[in-house]
Amino acid sequence: MTDEGVLENLTRERIIGKLSLLVKVLEQISISFLLFTLLLDLMRWQARQKSSFPLFPLYGFLAFIVTCLIIWAISLYPRSNALVGGDYLPAPFREFQPECADYVLENSSFKDISRIFDCKTYKNISDRVIFSLSLQKNDISLDNWPNNSATAIELAPWPEIHPRAQGTKVPILMYHDILPKKEVFFDVTPGELEAHFQFLQEIGATPISIDWLISHLRTGIPLPAKPVLLTFDDGYGGHYQYVYPLLRKYGYPAVFSIYINKMTQKTGRTSVTWQQLQEMAADPLVQIVSHSVSHPRDLRLLSDADLEQEVKQSKQILEKELGITVNYFTYPEGKADDRVKEFVKKAGYRAALSMNDLDEHFAGQSPDLLTIGRFGQSRTREVVPQAWGGDPLPRTDGGFNFATTIQKREVEFPTNTLVLISGGIPKTIHADSRYQVEEIIAGTEAIAAVDGGFFSLKELDSNQMIGPVLSQNGGFIPGYEGEIGKLEGRPLVIITDRWVRYLPFDPARHNTLEGIAAEAGDDLKVTDAFVAAAWLVKDGQPQSRESFGTLYGFDALRHRAFWGINQAGQPVIGVSREPIDSMALGELLVQAGFREAVMLDSGASTSLAYQGQSQVHYTPRPVPHVVALFPPTETYIVPINHVGIPCVIFADSCPAGS
Ligand SMILES: [Zn+2]
Repeated sequence: MTDEGVLENLTRERIIGKLSLLVKVLEQISISFLLFTLLLDLMRWQARQKSSFPLFPLYGFLAFIVTCLIIWAISLYPRSNALVGGDYLPAPFREFQPECADYVLENSSFKDISRIFDCKTYKNISDRVIFSLSLQKNDISLDNWPNNSATAIELAPWPEIHPRAQGTKVPILMYHDILPKKEVFFDVTPGELEAHFQFLQEIGATPISIDWLISHLRTGIPLPAKPVLLTFDDGYGGHYQYVYPLLRKYGYPAVFSIYINKMTQKTGRTSVTWQQLQEMAADPLVQIVSHSVSHPRDLRLLSDADLEQEVKQSKQILEKELGITVNYFTYPEGKADDRVKEFVKKAGYRAALSMNDLDEHFAGQSPDLLTIGRFGQSRTREVVPQAWGGDPLPRTDGGFNFATTIQKREVEFPTNTLVLISGGIPKTIHADSRYQVEEIIAGTEAIAAVDGGFFSLKELDSNQMIGPVLSQNGGFIPGYEGEIGKLEGRPLVIITDRWVRYLPFDPARHNTLEGIAAEAGDDLKVTDAFVAAAWLVKDGQPQSRESFGTLYGFDALRHRAFWGINQAGQPVIGVSREPIDSMALGELLVQAGFREAVMLDSGASTSLAYQGQSQVHYTPRPVPHVVALFPPTETYIVPINHVGIPCVIFADSCPAGS
């Protein structure tokens, strides 16, 4: 769909919204009229006035029929697939200002588009993003989308970075010349570049466009798995000759930072030509950004007049020569201060890329949108595996999400590091003896697992648990009558296909299958249950010292295993890298986004496996029970359109079949 097409659709949506309001009013009037005339006739009949023909009720009935016809006619009016966004969307769409800026995504169906137009609050659009979706398009329950969450999508005030995006890890890789024979250390050969691209492909990285990155930094809307942004500086000839064909081959978007004099003057190295650049700029994979006019070594040293020319004129020339809008600036040598940033802002740029060899960091950890940090390309293999696009948006309805792909990440805190694996469907496995966790999930579909509940240490290879246990492979086994009294009040974990609950364990009620099944209600089947060690997080709050009661060693420093549900409703399993006490762990888990979390058997049993590999740096005690994450039965891959906006938003602008 062209920009005009989208705008036309949006205008149409607004008209429909207004018409539906009008129809509602008509509806009310006609019903009132009908009732009024009926009443009038009744009064006349009572007064024994002679009226041979019920004239007034007929008029009322006719008005009612006409209204129905209007409603039917409006329902025939075609509606677009457009999801309307405020500042979130690229420039052409931003000009459209939805009237009501207070719409909140309320449920997964998005069937009632009229809600958007019903809301009466008028707010400043720049602070909030509005979404509306077509009636036909209700498949929005996507991995990286606010999956049926009641979530308002708010923009951070420009140029701040949204708090949610401050915790994600998006590496921006910086390349310079690409040529067959290296001349300086930062040169890269076409073969090396393709090896990088292959590496990205192998580890499941997702190169994204700069528009999508900026949207993410402003809204915190999560990005796909292992997001990365590719950037190429200075407009070398190799960018057209070697880079561009590779981008097309792999379907990777990239940013090219161009300075004007490179195009117009002969320099030592080859340059891309205007003609080549025009061809590239017309390709949706390519985003051209300004890199000044003359590439001064340090913009901070320029006079106001020169500085203005460097940032403003470069934008104007690129826009004129290439027929595009240039929204971003790249500082030559990464040099900028507040004055330089002010000029970049005044020239109308939406964000600016920087670089600093001594302080390279992920995009979200940049000071602001006008100083976005990058990594030198030599760090590709080190930083891209760490890339993390964020959890799905938090849901405020307490619901669950078992339909996302399973991802691992490490969250670093000053005091400790948590290894977290989120997504998928949670299930337990009760093995026939004691094994390493990776051995227990070998041969199953499980992608990851953490050690589970307490087990009896009396015999070396017994799989006897202390509390009752229900698993899909082992069925129900009651706990040791003699010992379960000790577990009273500890979290009883109950898992169904749709939710997970943590209830205080009651030995009198919960040591039978019937007792546990009764907690799920009539329409649901409990698939798994066991007793965990203690609550670490309840309703998004860390637990106090008192709450751990007499739990053995709760305040000792130990390696700890845990599992729970995050704010997005996904299951999450994990371990602490370093020994930690229970209260401190609860606080870190809250910061890591947990809504509920319980401790599992910890200390020497603490173990975590992911894709067949143990994730702990020691040999843990073998265990008979694990909490495992299985792949979702339905996964959603979000296709993106040319500017990096998910296809559910502008379905028509995406390639056919996506
Ligand atoms: Zn440069």
